[in-house]
Amino acid sequence: MSGRVDVEALAFSEGLKPAIRRSVAVGQLDAATALARRLGGAVSWSTRDIDEDGRRSRVMYLGRTQAEADALRDAEAEILPGSTTARPAAHARLGALLGFPRCCVDAFAGRVERGIDVVVGLGRGLAEDYVAAHDAWTPRAVALVNPLWMRQRRSLVSFYPCRFDCDAALEVARGVLGAVARRDEALADALVATLTGSIVVAPDGARVALVDGVPAPRPGGGGEIDPRDAELARRLLAGVATAIAGRPRSLSPIRVDFASR
Ligand SMILES: [Zn+2]
Repeated sequence: MSGRVDVEALAFSEGLKPAIRRSVAVGQLDAATALARRLGGAVSWSTRDIDEDGRRSRVMYLGRTQAEADALRDAEAEILPGSTTARPAAHARLGALLGFPRCCVDAFAGRVERGIDVVVGLGRGLAEDYVAAHDAWTPRAVALVNPLWMRQRRSLVSFYPCRFDCDAALEVARGVLGAVARRDEALADALVATLTGSIVVAPDGARVALVDGVPAPRPGGGGEIDPRDAELARRLLAGVATAIAGRPRSLSPIRVDFASR
């Protein structure tokens, strides 16, 4: 959700996304079902509950038809969060059903294959967003495909772009931004402003924005600051940690400078 507009739901209702995958806290299943009904789609639920950020959740699959929703459920059945087996083909199928660009899906499946927590040369046990940022880094990063505030519920894409200037991902993002702008132009501008600028991601997944060079944690979807983000800001300010604008060759935080165009 972003302000008054649920960006992903809007993209689905405008035909820009074939399907939605969303994890829902078990206490909020009725609200999610009601949303799905409003959007006019068919719903399927994950075969088991998952643990997400310490809360029990279920994954909702919203498709145009029941068969599509069920296909999404089946595609993810063996790779739900918490699964220990890597199945790149299942991730590729899930990404394709969700309408993600082929190049970005392939890049993600490649990371699943080698280990989603692995940067070759740096080691394993790294946060997924850190690994993704490492792979996608480019000096020409474009804000519209910035996926790093997804946890804050601020993004135009719901997948990791293969590169932070991927043309196919940009096409998706421009379409979604257009739909948001038609609904609420001020919100579209605010969203782009949020996605623009420098972000630092640490190997443990903590992240901060750099506002005039000063590390600033951002509240998450629940309006609270993640303590790990506050700690990263403190370490950067104290000079204990240094962010690298490029692919770090050691376990340093990575800095991505997202330009508005
Ligand atoms: Zn791509």
